[in-house]
Order: sequence, then structure tokens, then C-alpha cells
Amino acid sequence: MNDPVNDPVNEPVNEPVNDPGEYTPAPPADFVLPFDLPKADLRGRLVRLDAVSTRALSAHPLPEDAQRVLAEALVLAGLLGSALKLEGRLSVQTKGDGPLTMAVADYFAGGGLRGYGRLDEERFNALEKKNDFSALVGNGALAITIEPTPGAPAYQGLVSLSPKSLSASAETYFMQSEQLPTIITLAAGFIYQSGVGYGWRAAGLMVQAVPGKTEDSVRHGDNWQRISMFLETLTALELLDTSLSAESLLWRLFHEDEIRVHPAKELHFQCTCSADKVLPVLQSYPVEERPSLADEDGVIRTRCEFCGTEYKFPLSEIDSQPAD
Ligand SMILES: [Zn+2]
Repeated sequence: MNDPVNDPVNEPVNEPVNDPGEYTPAPPADFVLPFDLPKADLRGRLVRLDAVSTRALSAHPLPEDAQRVLAEALVLAGLLGSALKLEGRLSVQTKGDGPLTMAVADYFAGGGLRGYGRLDEERFNALEKKNDFSALVGNGALAITIEPTPGAPAYQGLVSLSPKSLSASAETYFMQSEQLPTIITLAAGFIYQSGVGYGWRAAGLMVQAVPGKTEDSVRHGDNWQRISMFLETLTALELLDTSLSAESLLWRLFHEDEIRVHPAKELHFQCTCSADKVLPVLQSYPVEERPSLADEDGVIRTRCEFCGTEYKFPLSEIDSQPAD
């Protein structure tokens, strides 16, 4: 499949390579840290989320095994979206015939993230292995949608979901749409921190060939083999451990490759819902149908699935405003 977007993920983001004298270390979490491995002709990025993933998942109380997929989708959106020159949004979405019928994560230009999932609880409860990715999502597709600027036509690339994992599905996406050998490792955990309580931490590491290299020359190169092996030894704990700095983690993995890091960028929770966006939807209903949407007190209540914000519209208020 050819992605209609002009090779978006290959677009270099022109950040100056840091001057070691002025380098500001990445925060413990909620950042993306891009890096280059010039000796190996590879580049990559590390994302680690804590407050952002906790907030994003707090609006929809799904079982832990479903939230884990969603947390990984948030990281994936952060990895892919932050690599683009983008004024709009990048969305990662799984859609399958398993109990987790949908998991979606949005990355907004500037580092905003949000997500939500849809679960058929009855079918989920009937699952034998609830933590099995293929059982959870079933057969389906991973869609990567890019809206280059807000409101502009979106482009979508689709690949079949890999039964192995979300990261394997994303690797296939890069191979099929960009012919770019890519390794993606994702991890997420529901973690207790004393003084803070339970929260979702999630992280991911992506290493990718520099565009212009043929797949064969990359995959059969010594560096690729060696780095693939390193990444297989990387544990979820190392990725998620906020007491291990991003730089230490990357140095541990890539010191032989003369790793060069770019400045880390902050990631934050962001939702774009607003009453102004809901109102026209309600106004599009014929006046006589609107009461059926309202509660007994004559108020229509809608809830944003991403952030949990509830919007209330008294019927009288909607009626007073003409529909377009
Ligand atoms: Zn919202």
C-alpha cells in the first residue's frame, strides 16, 4: 500500500543537534526525545508518559488489559506524530472484531495527546486470556490518519493488525507504506507510586532506517542485527522506570553508535472538545426530535469520550439559537 501522504514520517524535523554545553536533560516523563545513530545510519525517538497517560486514561475506566493497549496507542501516536512537520493531528486507531472494538489515540501539533477505547465488556469477560493482544483486538486494521492542518483533508494508511502486538502492527505499517525498516518497542504499566497513587505509565522506543537506504542493505547490515538484539533485551521496566534518565537508557543501548540526542520536547494531555462544537450537532436535529435526547429535566447531556467533560444544554437554550 502506498501512503498518499508525501512520505510524512520521512520528513526530517530540523532540530539543531544539541550543543553539549547547553543540553537540558529530558524530564523524567511526558516527553519525546529524538536521537540519531549516525554511525549506523539509523535514527529514533524515545517517548515516556506518566501524568499524560494517567490523565488520558482516567476518563474511561476500562479493565487494565484494555487500558494497556490504549496506553501503548498513546505512545505510538506520540512517536509518530512528533516526527512530522504537522500543524494538525495524527491519529492511531485500531479497529477489530475482538472485544476491544476500537482504541484511538490522537497527537496534536505541539505535543498534545488524548485517547479512548471502546470495549464490549460481556465479550471481554468471556475471554480466557484477557492480556492476549490478538484475543482482545481480534482481526482488524491499524489506521494511521494524518490531518496536516486543522480541518484539512486527512490521509489514511491502513495495515492489518498483527496478532502479536500493537508495535508489530506499527512496524508492518512502516514496512508497507514507507518501505522503511523500523523497530518499535512499546510498554505500559499500571504503577503505584507512594504519595501519588496508581497511575498509568507508558513508554516506547522507535529505531528506524534513514530514508534512502534499501531494505536489504539495512536489514542485512551488522548494525541492524546488533541493535535489533539490544532492543530485544530491553525490558518494559527499563522503559518505564522514571528514575532511569532517558539519556542513561539511550547511552546504555547505543553508546557504540555515537548516539546524538536532540532536545526533548514536552508532551501534554490535550482535548479539543468544546460546547461550541457540540451545539451545532444538537441544532442539526429537528426541533421536534430534540426532547427525545434530553433527560427528564429538559437538559441534553453529552459527554466527551476522550476527556470525560460533560456538556449540558437546556432544550430552551438550543431552541433559542437557529440551526444553520
Ligand atoms: Zn474532550
